[in-house]
Amino acid sequence: MINHLRTLVEATGPSGSEEDVVQLVVNAVRPHADTLDVDAFGNVVVVRRAAHDDARRCIISAHMDEVGFRVYKIGADGFLRLEKLGGFDDRILLAQRVWIRTDSGERLLGIIGSKSAHLLGDNDRSSIVPYAHLYVDIGARSREEVISMGVAIGDPVGFVGSLTELGHQTGRYTAHALDDRAGCAVLLTLLERYEDTPPPVTLILVFSVQEEIGLRGVQALARHLQSDVALALDMTAADDTPEFSSPHLQLGAGPTIKIMDSSTQAHPAIRRGLLAAAEKRGVPVQREVLKGIGTDAGALQYLGQGVPTGAVSVVNRYTHSPVEVLDSRDLVGAVSLLEGFLQDLGNLELGFTSLDEKPSA
Ligand SMILES: [Zn+2]
Repeated sequence: MINHLRTLVEATGPSGSEEDVVQLVVNAVRPHADTLDVDAFGNVVVVRRAAHDDARRCIISAHMDEVGFRVYKIGADGFLRLEKLGGFDDRILLAQRVWIRTDSGERLLGIIGSKSAHLLGDNDRSSIVPYAHLYVDIGARSREEVISMGVAIGDPVGFVGSLTELGHQTGRYTAHALDDRAGCAVLLTLLERYEDTPPPVTLILVFSVQEEIGLRGVQALARHLQSDVALALDMTAADDTPEFSSPHLQLGAGPTIKIMDSSTQAHPAIRRGLLAAAEKRGVPVQREVLKGIGTDAGALQYLGQGVPTGAVSVVNRYTHSPVEVLDSRDLVGAVSLLEGFLQDLGNLELGFTSLDEKPSA
């Protein structure tokens, strides 16, 4: 799984420019998929069928896109200006390395410049530079030189980095775009579990696009996919660092089972099914109530006439930054939790509540 993650984080794929990630995912799923489709948006939809046609169907979605930018202006001085894709904390953007991905697929290294320490005034020390004032230096001396390198207005820009383990054998890794390439790596690992034997339910794995800018990829899919239940698999934010006194979500304490966030109230049957699957198999999990986050589940819940929907998340520190951190034990836990849930899904009562009498039609 770590190898999948290592490969996936190397690709640059801000929302709407996920082509390189799509290629990696398609290469990885092709040997294991019964059907494989890339739709007009770029969503990759993989079906792995159960042994029986009448088995339930379960969608699990993880997004391929990452927060990033597009080139907004190319100055006469050769510096690039940026427009944002997704939610950022402007404080962390200064002095970062970025890739500019040109239309030919080539990546050019740039850095988000910041005033030299020797030249700072008092105001500079106490103020945050808004992203609209940021600029990228790609070594060019003029607009003409930028253009001759193949850079054009609109080119996607993403953070630079490789997956690296923190400390010594901690099992904790840092990179940009762990959100949500780690979810993609979990889905790839899950799919490989059904290499020799078909899954207990028909599995529809969605590697989605444009999640970070409003769940746009799965919104398109939700109009025609059919499923009995849906899950999103995404990252969520740990608050176990020194800024916070009593953490709600901790790194390494297991994947989270979503109760609510800004986009979803998890369906009670899914929530209970996930909790029971975890308990039965001794997988540590955390319950998540976090208003500041949303996932693909927010769009998947509207499939057809609406389907029971929930979400599983992997806890992540320093989200939407170039130095996101996760614990590999949470990834392993997420695979075990999903595998257990799928095993039990055939017998899971999916009603919103159990009624003594059926409501009249
Ligand atoms: Zn995410």
